[in-house]
Amino acid sequence: MKFLPTLLLTSAMFAQPSYDLLLKGGHVIDGKNKISAVRDVAIRDGKIAEVAADIPAARAAKVVDVSGLYVTPGLVDIHVHVYAGTGKRGAYCGDNSVYPDGFTFRAGVTTVADAGSSGWRNFPDFKDRVIDRSQTRVLAFLNIVGAGMRGAKFENNLADMEAGPTADMALRHKDVIVGIKTAHYTGPEWTPVERAVDAGAKAGIPIMVDFGDNRAERPSSDLWTKKLRPGDIYTHCFSGLRNELDASGHVNPAMLEGRRRGVIFDVGHGGGSFAWRDSISTDLHIGSMNSGMKDMLNVMSKFLAMGLSMDDVILRSTWNPAREIHHEELGNLSPGSPADVTVLRLETGDFGYTDMYGARLRGKQKLVCELTVRNGKVVYDLNGITRPDWEALPENYTQTGDTRWDSITPARRTAPRRK
Ligand SMILES: [Zn+2]
Repeated sequence: MKFLPTLLLTSAMFAQPSYDLLLKGGHVIDGKNKISAVRDVAIRDGKIAEVAADIPAARAAKVVDVSGLYVTPGLVDIHVHVYAGTGKRGAYCGDNSVYPDGFTFRAGVTTVADAGSSGWRNFPDFKDRVIDRSQTRVLAFLNIVGAGMRGAKFENNLADMEAGPTADMALRHKDVIVGIKTAHYTGPEWTPVERAVDAGAKAGIPIMVDFGDNRAERPSSDLWTKKLRPGDIYTHCFSGLRNELDASGHVNPAMLEGRRRGVIFDVGHGGGSFAWRDSISTDLHIGSMNSGMKDMLNVMSKFLAMGLSMDDVILRSTWNPAREIHHEELGNLSPGSPADVTVLRLETGDFGYTDMYGARLRGKQKLVCELTVRNGKVVYDLNGITRPDWEALPENYTQTGDTRWDSITPARRTAPRRK
């Protein structure tokens, strides 16, 4: 009888699963940790707890078989417009934006960065209206224009491009504001870029540039080789609208020089292809959501069709963008990181991808999101792979989930009647 307490203790330990959720048997791609292999991923208390070759099923409250699927860090899309709901017509700080949750989780995206829809004057409203009310992790580049993206008249007003108040607002919301944005400027001056760099330097964050009109007075070659600092981001890098290619169709050498200096080149969805690029992003807004862009997975699938490997596409949609916005706790599956996890199916068949002018590229592969986990809880489950078959349940079944791992099914009081 002497050893009984030990036995009791041991059985108590086994009765209490140590993990909330275990994704078993998937092919894990984690660029930060250089993993591309079949691994189990265990989650506890909203954090990644363990990634290993074989984690016993008995150790988790919920086990999901994801064999045949890819398991990646939650996708990070650093160029979206989600400042919706203000009622402003024809503006990205209004009707041109979309609410994030309906677009993100179904495409495997768990973190977005709004690319300058708000400036320092309306950021508090954006935060209250969207950021604080979304399940998606919403971060933001703050526009150098105080009024944000309110239309051409506002976005060309040099008097409203103040580095001081912009940097102050960024520092006040360090956890959410990841950079400064300048965009859509049509004039000949360098002022918007210079003020954005000034604000970025004051707040210690990168800037993202949509270079607006192509003006001879401020050539894009000078932007890449002189004006931008290492770590600053040039978005829409494939648009071909601002001398990204030279007259013979080759990459502008100034772009290559800029990249050697450490300038980052982000897709922001365009149509061309180079041998390199740093991050894949969508520029999600009402004009792109139903056109050639569609969603993050469509843009990623397009890069597969252009010849990039699965590992490279995932790296550029997870760890690379997380580093670019200085949020290195994201975009990876290291133990201790927030448990934002995406499970993808790579389908084969005859698919097509269109560019900004509507020309079609055929592809044999397409990524589909099966499951999205945000902070350790299932927020999207396309085919119900986390769910029991209904016939296997008792007649008066109610809840099939568990708050330890599920945030989809609300608790219901009444059971559906079975015929
Ligand atoms: Zn944009």
